[in-house]
Amino acid sequence: MRSVLVRMAARLLLRSATRAAVYSRRPLPSAAVVRGLASGGIPTDDEQATGLEKIVLQASKKGTDPYSILKPKEYAGSKQDPHIVPSITNKRMVGCVCEEDNTAVVWFWLHQGEAQRCPSCGAYYKLVPHELPH
Ligand SMILES: [Zn+2]
Repeated sequence: MRSVLVRMAARLLLRSATRAAVYSRRPLPSAAVVRGLASGGIPTDDEQATGLEKIVLQASKKGTDPYSILKPKEYAGSKQDPHIVPSITNKRMVGCVCEEDNTAVVWFWLHQGEAQRCPSCGAYYKLVPHELPH
């Protein structure tokens, strides 16, 4: 039951990954933490994953994140070190949690080209082209 829930969560994550990138300083629970209930003859995700889920699992073992489902890396958000936002198109919706304890997320479209600033806190964001594995 639990592993089914975990897999559903992973799928939800995957689905939302193509919509928006949320940048928060608060660590999000990683998929690795909720996995690994492998004792007692229940097949692990590793053993029964197929398709897209398998691709993501294998990639995460190599430390890559082709579908941007993990928490984004840390950047200063300054002009010299903007938040890097991978995108498969020429724009992506970005959610900025401006201050650590903010409950509201500032959403805006980030377009390809020069780095853009969050309209609220002024943090820099830059879109970089990203290709999905097929
Ligand atoms: Zn902001």
